[in-house]
Amino acid sequence: GLTEKLSAAFKKLRGKGRLSEADVKEAMKEIRMALLEADVNFKVVKQFVASVTERAVGSDVLESLTPAQMIVKIVNEELTNLMGGENSKLTISPKPPTVIMLCGLNGAGKTTNGAKLAGFFKKQGKRPLLVACDTFRPAAITQLEVVGSQVDVPVFQMGQIDPIDIAKAGIEHAKKHGNDMVFIDTAGRLHVDEELMDQLKQMKAAIEPTEILLIVDAMIGQDAVNAAKAFDEALDITGVMLTKLDGDARGGAALSIKAVTGKPIKFVGQGEKLDQVDLFYPDRMASRILGMGDVLSLIEKAQQSFDAKKAAELEQKLRKNKFTLADFYDQLVQVKSMGSLSEIAGMLPGVNSKALEGAMVDESALARTEAIILSMTPAEREDPSLLNNSRKKRIAAGSGTQVVDINRLLKQFELMQQMSKQFSGKNIKKLGRMGKF
Ligand code: GDP
Ligand code: MG
Repeated sequence: GLTEKLSAAFKKLRGKGRLSEADVKEAMKEIRMALLEADVNFKVVKQFVASVTERAVGSDVLESLTPAQMIVKIVNEELTNLMGGENSKLTISPKPPTVIMLCGLNGAGKTTNGAKLAGFFKKQGKRPLLVACDTFRPAAITQLEVVGSQVDVPVFQMGQIDPIDIAKAGIEHAKKHGNDMVFIDTAGRLHVDEELMDQLKQMKAAIEPTEILLIVDAMIGQDAVNAAKAFDEALDITGVMLTKLDGDARGGAALSIKAVTGKPIKFVGQGEKLDQVDLFYPDRMASRILGMGDVLSLIEKAQQSFDAKKAAELEQKLRKNKFTLADFYDQLVQVKSMGSLSEIAGMLPGVNSKALEGAMVDESALARTEAIILSMTPAEREDPSLLNNSRKKRIAAGSGTQVVDINRLLKQFELMQQMSKQFSGKNIKKLGRMGKF
């Protein structure tokens, strides 16, 4: 799925010190593929990839210490923008009742989600009415009555007469009975067809609804986008409710609908149960599509804690292979200020925090390492070869450790210096993972 594809794309970027233009291009190639596979409209993909690339290949990213996170952040923000930025609220008519016409293809979830929405607003103190205007399928009226009673919302019906007459009568009924919201359940068809659109257009003209909410099944991917386009062209819809997001719906519909129609997704349906309805939040959907752990809070922490300048100096030293224990200590402190290593690792997308336990991060060893380095003189930190036995004993006493601990630290530090030759300044982030002494 999209999530795995993006994870794979980001994994390639993780661990690199800096992003070259080629790196960004490479990642974007995979992101483009991933989005297309998720059934995102190709025009939307093109636009999306272009805007992300434009932002990513900027100096921000190239100068950032954590380019992979930077890309994740940009992709996340752009996904959010693509879906409208913020939650778009249902318009409430200043002159009640607010009339919401529910349209869509057969099986999209008009009837069920009409009841869900009625129940949702009833809980907020509204007095909704459901109106049965699907006269196309005989069972539709009964179905609406059943779900209506389940959410304790009255259902207005007049059998199988002209749906426009029913809609008008329903609104009059609402006015008389103090219902401040009217949800009109309409008929659908298997496919977009002219007869249906004509009927809906006439209804729109007759009742002048506050909202025309298109109900779209998220499981049908690209077809959902085509349907949304056709309904919008015929009816100038005011918003979309995306249903069946509880299934293995690909992100494609959610991503494309706003971009293609210009109309916001306002609600989501997330299950067959009548309370499984929620407002649509673009940022949540973006995170869900990315599905990569608590990516954003990781980025926030990284940005707060890392001193980019220090990191650049450090990189210079690494390049010249002049990495000292003092530098290492600075690095430890920065890493620690980001939170515990296991906490950070747990936030990394695709990292199994269970598997990490004990394996990578040993917090008490980290503390010991810190204590040892702190007990050294500045000269010793710059040049560990000064450390003869008596100095080591002094440091062990000062840090509450043993000489053997100091020897182990020095040995591993030596190893790291050797590795730093191979780093050539690229893998600074890995230093954070080297706290295991
Ligand atoms: P309509 O033809 O547009 O009126 O669609 P219905 O309201 O009759 O719904 C069609 C089917 O989709 C029903 O079996 C619903 O229970 C189901 N359904 C509706 N919304 C959701 C949802 O959000 N999640 C899931 N899993 N099923 C849904
Ligand atoms: Mg129905």
